Amino acid sequence: MAGKLRKAAIIGAGYVGASCAYAMLNQSLCDEIMLVGRSDKRTRAQAQDLSHCVDFSHSRTQVYAGTLEQCGDMDLIVLCAGGNPVEGGSRLDLLDSAYEIYRDMIGRMMASGFDGIFLVATNPVDIVTYMVWKLSGLPRERVIGSGTSIDTARLKTLLSEHLPVDPRSVQGYVMGEHGESQFVVWSHVTVGGKPLSDIISQHPQRFGNISLDDIERRTRNAGWDILLGKGSTHYGIAAALTSIARSIFNNDCRIAAVSAVLDGEYGAKDIGIGVPAIIGRSGIQEVLELRLNDAEQLRFAHSCAVIREAIQSLPELQAVGD
Ligand code: NAD
Repeated sequence: MAGKLRKAAIIGAGYVGASCAYAMLNQSLCDEIMLVGRSDKRTRAQAQDLSHCVDFSHSRTQVYAGTLEQCGDMDLIVLCAGGNPVEGGSRLDLLDSAYEIYRDMIGRMMASGFDGIFLVATNPVDIVTYMVWKLSGLPRERVIGSGTSIDTARLKTLLSEHLPVDPRSVQGYVMGEHGESQFVVWSHVTVGGKPLSDIISQHPQRFGNISLDDIERRTRNAGWDILLGKGSTHYGIAAALTSIARSIFNNDCRIAAVSAVLDGEYGAKDIGIGVPAIIGRSGIQEVLELRLNDAEQLRFAHSCAVIREAIQSLPELQAVGD
């Protein structure tokens, strides 16, 4: 029997990493999942627990604990190590600790011979995506952040509560920073192909009371609601990561709102930010450039400024590759 094994490593075996492994395993996405964590004992226990799911799943996935030095033949590395923001703070507060975590780790994975795709969940995800791109030296299409994929799912879920349709029948995106400066691209939200603005204006009795500002605010705050309620948000992001990983492994060319390192798209360069992109076997196959209206362009520019300021707060990163 021929065929290359599909292998993924997950770095950080906490809530997000373990939930991602669980989702990948239940979707029979790959042949091997290697967990790499800070505590060997805990990581081995996570791997052992997950390996017991195999008897109940559709196909065999080997789950084991490993090291950064064993990443050489991985197709995909999912980065989930890091902490969560505290109440009253922001995801941007995590930047210094994320840099401390990944400063040496990325080099060690690259030294092991890794030549696949990085998928980043660690917050602040847009800046960590940029950081991983810089530190790894990989082409920009092979470093993908989960970006605003989870925020987009939250938007669709909220809209589906107002319009009686399945969230999957709502099309649209949250773009920009996975953080406070994100924004909904309302000009491109459609339901079954029909613009949301038409639906609202044609049915004032049914939908006239929908407040787009309120939906946008609740979309932005959903992560905080969950974090303050239970200490971590992990099932939704794990599903988002698994969906992106599936599009890579199966070359599905699905479009998702991910953090991509831009090179002129949307008039921005040398920055990681949430934009819709086609995801396939080679990573980001193309960034989809939506025609934003004037207000949306301003919001995109503001989000870029927030991210750029954070990138510039790490002078060490600026020097990489110079
Ligand atoms: P957690 O505390 O449950 O797990 C974090 C894990 O990272 C722990 O197992 C810890 O041991 C590990 N870790 C920390 N430093 C490490 C190091 N130097 N080497 C190896 N492992 C290390 O946290 P969580 O809830 O799983 O969140 C993980 C990350 O995912 C955080 O940065 C969080 O903000 C982020 N997150 C992102 C999104 C998103 O949409 N991108 C959503 C939710 C969470």
